[in-house]
Amino acid sequence: MQERGGNGMAAYLVFLEQRDGILAEASVNLWHRVQHHAVPGADRVSGFVAGPLRPGALEPLFGAGVVHHAAEERLARSSETTLSRLLAALAAREAITDIVIASTSAGKRLAPCLAQATGASLLSGCVAGGFQEPVCRRPIHCGSILVACVPEAPVRIYLQDRLPQVLFTGTEHPRSVAFDIVPHLDADEKMNPAVRSITEISRQRDISEAGIIVAGGRGMGGPEGFLLLEKLAALLGGSVGASRSAVDEGWRPHGDQIGQTGKSVSPDLYIAAGISGALQHLAGLSAARTIVAINADPDAPVFGVADYGIVGDVLAVLPRLIDVLGDVLPKK
Ligand SMILES: Cc1cc2nc3c(=O)[nH]c(=O)nc-3n(C[C@H](O)[C@H](O)[C@H](O)COP(=O)(O)OP(=O)(O)OC[C@H]3O[C@@H](n4cnc5c(N)ncnc54)[C@H](O)[C@@H]3O)c2cc1C
Repeated sequence: MQERGGNGMAAYLVFLEQRDGILAEASVNLWHRVQHHAVPGADRVSGFVAGPLRPGALEPLFGAGVVHHAAEERLARSSETTLSRLLAALAAREAITDIVIASTSAGKRLAPCLAQATGASLLSGCVAGGFQEPVCRRPIHCGSILVACVPEAPVRIYLQDRLPQVLFTGTEHPRSVAFDIVPHLDADEKMNPAVRSITEISRQRDISEAGIIVAGGRGMGGPEGFLLLEKLAALLGGSVGASRSAVDEGWRPHGDQIGQTGKSVSPDLYIAAGISGALQHLAGLSAARTIVAINADPDAPVFGVADYGIVGDVLAVLPRLIDVLGDVLPKK
């Protein structure tokens, strides 16, 4: 592990993602994780947020530190190139050692640009370690091997998968200061309209951040089967995901696909309905905490990784599950 800054202390910079002026839950959780991990009185914690914020938007953040706020309207939807230039300038001025970014769709686009702009080591897809330990472990070959990644550059960027929430409260809130670096921003401000519309779609919903995912595969039988999953997800306060087969069938958008060629997710609860459990699907699940599988075939490979299994027809099991949970869960 490289020295943590010249004096052995770490200086963290958390990228705080915002949507419509409200901080993304993933960023708030990450901020508290970093606060929890930082050594009080030694390590420094700061944040960066771009674009106008709603009044009180920073109130969910607890802990000491400073949030650098670049409030200009045009920065709310700026390209990764622009954001990475702002962050790189800030990181250099503040002698930042560790930049932490939530692994959302926006975070995944930003981190490599920032690594290029700063020359930092980029650590992504780590299922253990992350910014909290010197060595990160990331799965390769569909999760069959874990490799240890040791950053070499003096500055590290962690593209951090979702971590369980920590309860971090107190009376102290970070100080908000106006971002006062004025790097030369030019043509890259004009984002390609096609990229912009994809960015906007992906901002609406991101299963990488979900704490509960109800996912369906070919066994759901069609888009109408997914209505049951929508119902269940709404009851549980979760999001709907899909296997590649369900996406290839056109039943769900590609943004919902989980697996090797889709998204890696790290929910506390993953319900796999009518999904066989192919290696390429499971590759996106290595950080899921509890897996519940519903499948008609008792020999389906998904049962090999499930914590709880229900053998049965999804079209019979899911309505019963929805009824029972509807009776016991508070209405959302
Ligand atoms: C290079 C590569 C990359 C890939 N990337 C991905 C990826 O990112 N994500 C991904 O998911 N896949 C990926 N795949 C595809 C993967 O190999 C599987 O084909 C896919 O995951 C299978 O999806 P499935 O489980 O929904 O469908 P199937 O394999 O067809 O399984 C359907 C399951 O539903 C069950 N079933 C059927 N009817 C019912 C019912 N009524 N009630 C209950 N259970 C029922 C069946 O028993 C079966 O287990 C990739 C493949 C390759 C080659």
